[in-house]
Amino acid sequence: MRTTCRTAIEAGDLTFACYSMDQCVTGLLLRNDLLDAVWRESERGLDFVRKTKFRDVADIIVSQQRFIATMQGRTASLSIFSDAQFDESTFEAQLKGDRNPVMICLYWIVKLKTRLLSGDYAEALAAADKAKALLWSSTTEVQLLDYFYYTALTVAALYEKASADEQIRWHDLLTQHREQLREWAENYPPTFADKHTLVSAELARLEGRDLDAMRLYEEAIRAARENGFVQNEGLANELAAQFYLKRGIEKVAHSCFRDARYCYLRWGALGKVKQLDERYPAMEEQAALRSTATIGTSVEQLDLGTVMKASHAVAGEIVQEKLIKTLMMIAVEHAGAERGLLILPHGEELRIAAEARTGRERVEVQLQQASVTPSALPDALLHYVIRTQESVILDDASTQNQFSQDEYVRQQRPGSVLCLPLVKQAKLMGVLYLENNLAPRVFTPKRLAMLELLASQAAISLENTRLYRDLEEREAKIRRLVDANIMGIFIWNLQGEIIEANDAFLHLLGYSREDVVSGRRGWRDLTPAEWRDRDERAVEDLKATGTAQPYQKEFLRKDGSRAPVMIGAATFEGSKNEGVAFVLDLSEQKRAEDERKRAEEALRRAQTELAHVTRVTTLGELTTSIAHEVNQPLGALVNNAGACLRWLTAHNLEEAQRSASLVIADGHRAGEIIGRIRALAKKAPPQKDWLDLNHAISEVVALARSEAQKNRVSLQTQLSNDLPLILGDRIQLQQVILNLLINGIEALSGVSEGPRELWVSSEKVNGIPGESEQEAFEDKSLAETKWTHVLVAVRDSGPGLDLNGIDRLFDAFYTTKSQGMGMGLAISRSIVEAHAGRLWATANVSKGALFQFALPIRYEQNK
Ligand code: ADP
Repeated sequence: MRTTCRTAIEAGDLTFACYSMDQCVTGLLLRNDLLDAVWRESERGLDFVRKTKFRDVADIIVSQQRFIATMQGRTASLSIFSDAQFDESTFEAQLKGDRNPVMICLYWIVKLKTRLLSGDYAEALAAADKAKALLWSSTTEVQLLDYFYYTALTVAALYEKASADEQIRWHDLLTQHREQLREWAENYPPTFADKHTLVSAELARLEGRDLDAMRLYEEAIRAARENGFVQNEGLANELAAQFYLKRGIEKVAHSCFRDARYCYLRWGALGKVKQLDERYPAMEEQAALRSTATIGTSVEQLDLGTVMKASHAVAGEIVQEKLIKTLMMIAVEHAGAERGLLILPHGEELRIAAEARTGRERVEVQLQQASVTPSALPDALLHYVIRTQESVILDDASTQNQFSQDEYVRQQRPGSVLCLPLVKQAKLMGVLYLENNLAPRVFTPKRLAMLELLASQAAISLENTRLYRDLEEREAKIRRLVDANIMGIFIWNLQGEIIEANDAFLHLLGYSREDVVSGRRGWRDLTPAEWRDRDERAVEDLKATGTAQPYQKEFLRKDGSRAPVMIGAATFEGSKNEGVAFVLDLSEQKRAEDERKRAEEALRRAQTELAHVTRVTTLGELTTSIAHEVNQPLGALVNNAGACLRWLTAHNLEEAQRSASLVIADGHRAGEIIGRIRALAKKAPPQKDWLDLNHAISEVVALARSEAQKNRVSLQTQLSNDLPLILGDRIQLQQVILNLLINGIEALSGVSEGPRELWVSSEKVNGIPGESEQEAFEDKSLAETKWTHVLVAVRDSGPGLDLNGIDRLFDAFYTTKSQGMGMGLAISRSIVEAHAGRLWATANVSKGALFQFALPIRYEQNK
């Protein structure tokens, strides 16, 4: 609820902030926390809720405060909410009209509960009726538990004096309410079992089932105690006491009253304690008579001044060692003990944390960390106290008692022994062991009462010192991180100030502490303009969630340069305006990355350069073939021009015209060949366009054809006529095809027997042959059309490949030719891979080599 409250405030949701404030108080009351502490919490809540002017919620807290004040005995009497500041009837008179029904309903439930506890049953019943009419509004409130529980107890209290009609109605009501409580108890016994059981006990009482009633009272008391419900334990004891008193079982009744009284005392309900004392004065004498009272000496019997002083001394210590010393001194001194031990949990086991001895003049306390051994104290006694969480006095340990057989008791024969638990909210915080070997009956009830009060304060203080120590340790750890200066850390606020910064941060930016911490340079001033928006987004996150996930930004150094950093931040608990940020210097990483980018760029340039060089070299190898290729149309052109002239002389214009068109066609053909060569030889940066691969293949085949003819190689093409367009660099892909063709021709030129054949083919395929289906279908849209790649194959009937070194073919400078450079395949592969495709070699089916490359269709979408 407190987290809800904080989150709501941070998010600016005041409505829910207010709701959670009153829910905190509700929870603490339900848990039976010390009334004093609940009051303080309610004051804080009320203050906030009033400031936000949420009147209905304010009145819910006001009603809860009335309950607390009444129980504490601060109102005019236990039977009324009024005091100097509050008037019950005026308040009740305005619970109508536009007032929130939930608030009104909760008020009547609080009143029902208060009047039941004060014993004003008729008023409690009237309040229950008023609440009932409004229950529809409050079905999600946990106070419903109070309604069912206290209404049932009220009716049970009034039952015996009611009319027969009423009794029938009330019996129904009681069963109904018990059923509701049973359902809850089954759902979650720790919270509801004691309430359900107590109502069951009351029902058993009314139905005359005395034995059941006794068992159920006992069970209700135990369940309440086990779960730390001190108020409900008190009430269960009180009802049990009345039950026994009515039946003349006085001793038991007294014991129940005494326990009830002690519960109310521990809860801080002095008003209720006073009422018990007035109603049952006989209890006190009874208590005083008991020789081994566990609990019970009235507070009044004690020297209150001494108790307060001791209690304050213990409460004031926040350092554990000092607290232990103070506690031991006071305990040993005031109890009249000779020796005292303090046993505290240490991880899983119990250890003796301190030993005190009365010296000649004063008490000596020694802190230690010793294990609990049978030679230090009576083992069985210690375990009994741990188990029952009750104090034990052995008045005369040398006489026969339940611990006589204990090794320590047998050997040491201590005179008086007192062992008492330090308990906070049903949790054992430690055990205090005191002994006096000189005299029996040293630990009187009066001393015990005083020690028990001291013990409950000590339990709280021990817990506090533990929390304080944890806090200190945590802080030390954080300090270590800040001071280690392995990263920059600074404390900021949303106004833009840097409140504190460590050396690493200052060093990174080149500023002195005075420069930034004085407020002269806030974190916004240290941020270049283009990073401010990013910072503001982080601020939004901080406001909404309390943290800003790490992100990269830049700071301005004192010398004006930029510092690239990774920064993350969080607000402090309970503050939305202030927090801490860590800053990691990314300069090194940025430098390395720039370096890497530069290297990549250089590599890419070198590759393009190399591709160009090899292309030109290849073209160079083809000079004679190309010259031949160009010569052909030129020769034809000369012939056709001659023919044209002749036809003109013969005045045959028709034939002359035909020859002239042939001249033009020849000229174009020669021009095209030159154009293609120029394109291939051009040094151009890689550039991707949609291209028709078949067309690109045809152009290269035209270039290589005369080289093939020269080597008596038959060059055949088999191009699929429905290839999709490919996004790629035409020149580079043509270079690949040209390389493969020339390699084929070169391989075939050595063949002396059989045909010299070279085939080029293209087709659409699904996936790259040899790769898994899965990969082929990765792109779902393509999986539907099925075709994912264009496959180009160049096969020859040459001598074939050495299958062992097949992968080395693609290594740079691998060649088997005397004039070879060994770059052709290496460059071809890198070109194909730059197009997200693959190039590979296998043996041809019948004979020779097969080179294939596959390019993805629409690969740019896969990237
Ligand atoms: P180069 O042609 O300069 O040697 P490549 O990288 O183009 O460089 O070829 C590397 C090697 O691969 C060649 O030297 C040859 O041994 C082998 N090779 C390439 N194509 C074929 C082929 N069609 N048949 C047999 N071997 C081939």
